Amino acid sequence: MKEYTVVEIDMRNDFSDDPRAALPVPGTLAMVGKMRILEYYSRCVIDVFDNHHNDDPVSQEEFKKFLPHCIVGTWGHKRIGGLCDYYQMKNAEDHTHKTGTFIQVRWPKNTYDAWEGMKGEDPERFVELDDMKEWEKAFYKEIGRDEILVVGGVVTGICVKAFIEGAIKRGMSKRIIVISDCVANLDLPLIPSTESLFKDWSHQGVVITSFDAFVKQYIMKD
Ligand SMILES: [Zn+2]
Repeated sequence: MKEYTVVEIDMRNDFSDDPRAALPVPGTLAMVGKMRILEYYSRCVIDVFDNHHNDDPVSQEEFKKFLPHCIVGTWGHKRIGGLCDYYQMKNAEDHTHKTGTFIQVRWPKNTYDAWEGMKGEDPERFVELDDMKEWEKAFYKEIGRDEILVVGGVVTGICVKAFIEGAIKRGMSKRIIVISDCVANLDLPLIPSTESLFKDWSHQGVVITSFDAFVKQYIMKD
């Protein structure tokens, strides 16, 4: 097995194709099982997630375009499909097939772009993340500069796009693998199509592969 880190983007209830979701993205629930498997065998999971507050001016800006979503403390803010329970279970066991310790990094954001972290002025809320240089340093410390980053989540043309383009800008394109059936997009006029994004990212050195192909190449390999 080869080591890798999973970057899970916005796998939160408000983006699931559940009738209660504020901004449902078709196909999201069907990705959960695959994401669980990818994460189970990973060295590290980076949980990038929308972390809005009703009284946050940065969030209010976004709510002008989209219905309020992923508000801290609500059902919509929680991870889809009991992913948290899964981690509690996992941490309680001794997975000796792993080298090193399993790591989880929580990466909250209040805009589309994970690389901006939590924007804003409130010192209580934003104290850890108001300097992105510090945040990026913490990110590198956890995963190392050579780690393979396996990306899945939603929405392909919004937050996944922002994460991948930010990573490309930071010189990481050669170590990003996007799992083509673990991302889901919205079919809206201003959102680029999955096909065009995959084409663009591949040109820049990002690998696009299916879940099955990844499992064969990374997890089942001795
Ligand atoms: Zn949002």
